[in-house]
Amino acid sequence: MNDPLKTYIEKYTQLEAGMRESIARKGNSLCAQCSCIGCDAVMCIEALKSPFLKLVHQQAAEYDEQKGFLSEAGCKLKKGRPSVCYEYFCDDHFYVQPDELHAEVLKIIGTLLYHATRNAKGDIPLDEIMTEKELDQLDFDSLEKHLQESMQALEIIRTFYCTGNLTEESYQALKRIRIAKEFQA
Ligand code: SF4
Ligand code: SF4
Repeated sequence: MNDPLKTYIEKYTQLEAGMRESIARKGNSLCAQCSCIGCDAVMCIEALKSPFLKLVHQQAAEYDEQKGFLSEAGCKLKKGRPSVCYEYFCDDHFYVQPDELHAEVLKIIGTLLYHATRNAKGDIPLDEIMTEKELDQLDFDSLEKHLQESMQALEIIRTFYCTGNLTEESYQALKRIRIAKEFQA
Protein backbone atom coordinates (compact mmCIF):
# COMPACT_ATOMS: atom_id res chain seq x y z
CA MET A 1 0.00 0.00 0.00
CA ASN A 2 1.48 3.36 -0.97
CA ASP A 3 1.57 6.37 1.37
CA PRO A 4 -1.29 8.41 -0.23
CA LEU A 5 -3.59 5.37 0.01
CA LYS A 6 -2.55 4.74 3.61
CA THR A 7 -3.19 8.37 4.54
CA TYR A 8 -6.51 8.36 2.72
CA ILE A 9 -7.62 5.21 4.60
CA GLU A 10 -6.73 6.79 7.97
CA LYS A 11 -8.83 9.87 7.23
CA TYR A 12 -11.66 7.83 5.68
CA THR A 13 -11.82 5.74 8.85
CA GLN A 14 -12.18 8.92 10.93
CA LEU A 15 -14.91 10.16 8.61
CA GLU A 16 -16.83 6.88 8.84
CA ALA A 17 -16.59 6.86 12.65
CA GLY A 18 -17.86 10.45 12.81
CA MET A 19 -20.73 9.68 10.46
CA ARG A 20 -21.77 6.67 12.49
CA GLU A 21 -21.79 8.82 15.60
CA SER A 22 -23.98 11.48 13.93
CA ILE A 23 -26.38 8.91 12.51
CA ALA A 24 -26.68 7.20 15.90
CA ARG A 25 -27.49 10.41 17.79
CA LYS A 26 -30.84 10.62 19.56
CA GLY A 27 -33.66 11.31 17.13
CA ASN A 28 -31.74 10.19 14.04
CA SER A 29 -31.57 6.42 14.14
CA LEU A 30 -34.71 4.37 14.50
CA CYS A 31 -33.15 1.16 13.21
CA ALA A 32 -32.13 -0.19 16.64
CA GLN A 33 -35.82 -0.43 17.64
CA CYS A 34 -37.04 -1.76 14.30
CA SER A 35 -37.83 -5.39 13.50
CA CYS A 36 -37.44 -4.86 9.75
CA ILE A 37 -33.74 -5.49 9.21
CA GLY A 38 -32.74 -3.87 5.94
CA CYS A 39 -29.36 -5.64 5.78
CA ASP A 40 -28.81 -8.11 3.01
CA ALA A 41 -25.89 -10.42 2.19
CA VAL A 42 -26.02 -8.99 -1.34
CA MET A 43 -24.93 -5.65 0.15
CA CYS A 44 -22.44 -7.24 2.55
CA ILE A 45 -20.63 -8.94 -0.31
CA GLU A 46 -19.58 -5.54 -1.64
CA ALA A 47 -17.44 -5.16 1.49
CA LEU A 48 -15.84 -8.53 0.73
CA LYS A 49 -15.19 -7.94 -2.97
CA SER A 50 -13.86 -4.41 -2.68
CA PRO A 51 -10.07 -4.28 -2.16
CA PHE A 52 -10.42 -0.78 -0.70
CA LEU A 53 -13.10 -1.73 1.85
CA LYS A 54 -11.14 -4.86 2.79
CA LEU A 55 -8.12 -2.70 3.59
CA VAL A 56 -10.35 -0.48 5.74
CA HIS A 57 -12.17 -3.15 7.77
CA GLN A 58 -9.57 -6.00 7.76
CA GLN A 59 -12.39 -8.43 8.65
CA ALA A 60 -12.83 -10.43 5.45
CA ALA A 61 -12.37 -13.70 7.38
CA GLU A 62 -15.57 -12.99 9.33
CA TYR A 63 -17.80 -13.05 6.25
CA ASP A 64 -20.47 -15.75 6.41
CA GLU A 65 -21.94 -17.20 3.18
CA GLN A 66 -25.54 -16.97 4.47
CA LYS A 67 -25.51 -13.94 6.73
CA GLY A 68 -22.75 -11.86 5.23
CA PHE A 69 -21.46 -9.57 7.97
CA LEU A 70 -24.74 -9.53 9.89
CA SER A 71 -24.68 -11.06 13.38
CA GLU A 72 -27.22 -11.24 16.22
CA ALA A 73 -25.64 -8.05 17.56
CA GLY A 74 -25.92 -6.22 14.23
CA CYS A 75 -23.28 -5.54 11.62
CA LYS A 76 -19.87 -6.98 12.49
CA LEU A 77 -18.14 -4.22 10.54
CA LYS A 78 -17.46 -1.15 12.60
CA LYS A 79 -15.61 0.38 9.65
CA GLY A 80 -15.36 -0.39 5.95
CA ARG A 81 -19.09 -0.92 5.35
CA PRO A 82 -20.25 -0.29 1.78
CA SER A 83 -21.39 3.34 1.50
CA VAL A 84 -24.86 2.15 0.50
CA CYS A 85 -25.33 0.78 4.04
CA TYR A 86 -25.40 4.39 5.28
CA GLU A 87 -27.31 5.99 2.44
CA TYR A 88 -30.75 4.49 2.88
CA PHE A 89 -33.13 5.88 5.51
CA CYS A 90 -36.77 4.79 5.45
CA ASP A 91 -39.41 7.54 5.43
CA ASP A 92 -39.93 7.25 9.20
CA HIS A 93 -36.48 8.77 9.72
CA PHE A 94 -37.57 11.91 7.90
CA TYR A 95 -41.00 12.14 9.59
CA VAL A 96 -39.34 12.36 13.01
CA GLN A 97 -36.98 15.19 12.03
CA PRO A 98 -38.07 18.55 13.51
CA ASP A 99 -38.05 20.35 10.15
CA GLU A 100 -37.02 20.09 6.51
CA LEU A 101 -33.51 21.39 7.18
CA HIS A 102 -32.84 18.58 9.67
CA ALA A 103 -34.21 16.08 7.14
CA GLU A 104 -31.91 17.47 4.46
CA VAL A 105 -28.93 17.34 6.82
CA LEU A 106 -29.67 13.71 7.71
CA LYS A 107 -29.66 12.77 4.05
CA ILE A 108 -26.31 14.54 3.61
CA ILE A 109 -24.74 12.65 6.54
CA GLY A 110 -25.65 9.36 4.87
CA THR A 111 -23.92 10.33 1.66
CA LEU A 112 -20.58 11.58 3.05
CA LEU A 113 -18.72 8.36 2.25
CA TYR A 114 -20.16 8.19 -1.24
CA HIS A 115 -19.02 11.77 -1.85
CA ALA A 116 -15.53 11.10 -0.46
CA THR A 117 -14.97 8.09 -2.72
CA ARG A 118 -16.69 9.15 -5.93
CA ASN A 119 -14.91 9.49 -9.27
CA ALA A 120 -11.78 7.61 -8.19
CA LYS A 121 -11.18 6.56 -11.78
CA GLY A 122 -13.48 8.24 -14.30
CA ASP A 123 -16.93 7.82 -12.77
CA ILE A 124 -15.98 4.66 -10.84
CA PRO A 125 -16.02 5.10 -7.04
CA LEU A 126 -13.08 3.96 -4.94
CA ASP A 127 -14.92 0.97 -3.47
CA GLU A 128 -15.53 -0.37 -6.98
CA ILE A 129 -11.87 -0.41 -8.00
CA MET A 130 -11.38 -4.14 -8.12
CA THR A 131 -7.62 -4.75 -7.81
CA GLU A 132 -5.03 -3.57 -5.30
CA LYS A 133 -2.68 -2.76 -8.16
CA GLU A 134 -5.23 -0.28 -9.59
CA LEU A 135 -5.73 1.19 -6.11
CA ASP A 136 -2.03 1.89 -5.81
CA GLN A 137 -2.00 3.64 -9.19
CA LEU A 138 -4.79 6.10 -8.42
CA ASP A 139 -4.26 9.82 -8.31
CA PHE A 140 -5.37 10.69 -4.78
CA ASP A 141 -5.46 14.48 -5.28
CA SER A 142 -9.12 14.65 -6.33
CA LEU A 143 -10.12 11.93 -3.86
CA GLU A 144 -8.44 13.92 -1.07
CA LYS A 145 -10.42 16.99 -2.14
CA HIS A 146 -13.72 15.08 -1.93
CA LEU A 147 -12.70 13.56 1.39
CA GLN A 148 -11.87 17.00 2.80
CA GLU A 149 -15.27 18.30 1.64
CA SER A 150 -16.98 15.41 3.44
CA MET A 151 -14.93 16.00 6.60
CA GLN A 152 -15.74 19.71 6.52
CA ALA A 153 -19.44 18.86 6.06
CA LEU A 154 -19.30 16.52 9.06
CA GLU A 155 -17.86 19.31 11.23
CA ILE A 156 -20.58 21.70 10.03
CA ILE A 157 -23.24 19.12 10.85
CA ARG A 158 -21.79 18.52 14.32
CA THR A 159 -21.90 22.27 14.99
CA PHE A 160 -25.44 22.47 13.60
CA TYR A 161 -26.57 19.69 15.94
CA CYS A 162 -24.94 21.44 18.93
CA THR A 163 -26.11 24.99 18.25
CA GLY A 164 -29.09 24.62 15.92
CA ASN A 165 -27.47 27.26 13.66
CA LEU A 166 -26.36 26.92 10.08
CA THR A 167 -24.83 29.91 8.33
CA GLU A 168 -25.45 30.46 4.61
CA GLU A 169 -21.76 29.72 3.96
CA SER A 170 -22.00 26.42 5.84
CA TYR A 171 -25.21 25.52 4.04
CA GLN A 172 -23.50 26.10 0.69
CA ALA A 173 -20.62 23.81 1.80
CA LEU A 174 -23.19 21.10 2.57
CA LYS A 175 -24.78 21.58 -0.84
CA ARG A 176 -21.45 20.59 -2.43
CA ILE A 177 -21.90 17.06 -1.09
CA ARG A 178 -23.09 14.88 -3.93
CA ILE A 179 -25.94 12.47 -3.29
CA ALA A 180 -25.95 9.25 -5.35
CA LYS A 181 -28.60 9.34 -8.11
CA GLU A 182 -30.58 6.46 -6.63
CA PHE A 183 -31.00 8.34 -3.32
CA GLN A 184 -31.90 11.74 -4.74
CA ALA A 185 -35.49 12.89 -4.04
S1 SF4 B 1 -34.28 2.04 7.78
FE1 SF4 B 1 -36.34 2.06 8.68
S2 SF4 B 1 -37.23 0.08 8.13
FE2 SF4 B 1 -35.01 -0.08 7.86
S3 SF4 B 1 -34.21 -0.90 9.79
FE3 SF4 B 1 -34.11 1.35 9.92
S4 SF4 B 1 -36.03 1.97 10.91
FE4 SF4 B 1 -36.29 -0.15 10.16
S1 SF4 C 1 -24.63 -2.75 7.50
FE1 SF4 C 1 -23.22 -4.54 7.64
S2 SF4 C 1 -24.55 -6.34 7.78
FE2 SF4 C 1 -25.80 -4.63 7.00
S3 SF4 C 1 -25.72 -4.82 4.76
FE3 SF4 C 1 -24.09 -3.39 5.40
S4 SF4 C 1 -22.26 -4.67 5.63
FE4 SF4 C 1 -24.03 -6.04 5.63
